[in-house]
Parts: sequence; structure tokens; C-alpha cells
Amino acid sequence: MSTYNSEPVCKVCGAVATLPVYGPDMCQACSDAAWARIEARAKLEEMPLSFEKVITNHRRETIEYEILLGTGGPADRVYVITDFSGAIESAKYQFQDWFQPWTTAEGQDSELVERFAAIVGFYEEG
Ligand SMILES: [Zn+2]
Repeated sequence: MSTYNSEPVCKVCGAVATLPVYGPDMCQACSDAAWARIEARAKLEEMPLSFEKVITNHRRETIEYEILLGTGGPADRVYVITDFSGAIESAKYQFQDWFQPWTTAEGQDSELVERFAAIVGFYEEG
């Protein structure tokens, strides 16, 4: 038996929720979208091989981190700089061929790379 006083309305999109499978507050489409986001986020979180603090720069009051994505031929990573509150100042996708220095990829979507860095990293206060 339904315990609704009126038609259940999706709290995400406002549609009348006909099949509230995962709870009474979301329609099926919004529930599917929410699960897709959870799965996509889990995949992102599995991407890094390692996450390491590289250096604390006391003069600039920044902390630098490396999110290693792949090793060798070329290796790739996201290099992150935060301020002392742990807020990301920059995140750059970089690659490195054997015996070459790290190189920042051209034409990257810096906002997207920063969002990725925010999801997979743990940034401490300086
Ligand atoms: Zn909905």
C-alpha cells in the first residue's frame, strides 16, 4: 500500500514518480542518472596508480602533489598545486617519455583537469 498523501513527485526533476525503486523521492530516470554518476565517479577514483605529496613550498605557501596515472613510454600524471588551505590553485595533465622531463600537454581543459584532481586527491592544510 502506498503511504503517499498525493502523487509522489521526483524531488530532482519534479516529474510524477511512477516507479520509486530506490526511494520515494526520485523517479526512475533520476535514479538511473544518480547511479551512473556514482559508477563514473568510482571509475575515476580507481584511475590513479598513486597519489603523493611532492613538496611543500613555504616561500610561496603552496603544496605540490602528483597523481600518477601511468608509468613508462610515456608516463602520465596530473600535477597539482594547492594553497595552504588545501584549495587547488592549478592541476595540469603532463606526460613524460623515457629520459625526458615532464611536459605539460597543450590544449588541455584546465577546469576539467582540476575537477578530476579534486575528486581523486586528498589535499591537506599547510
Ligand atoms: Zn526525476
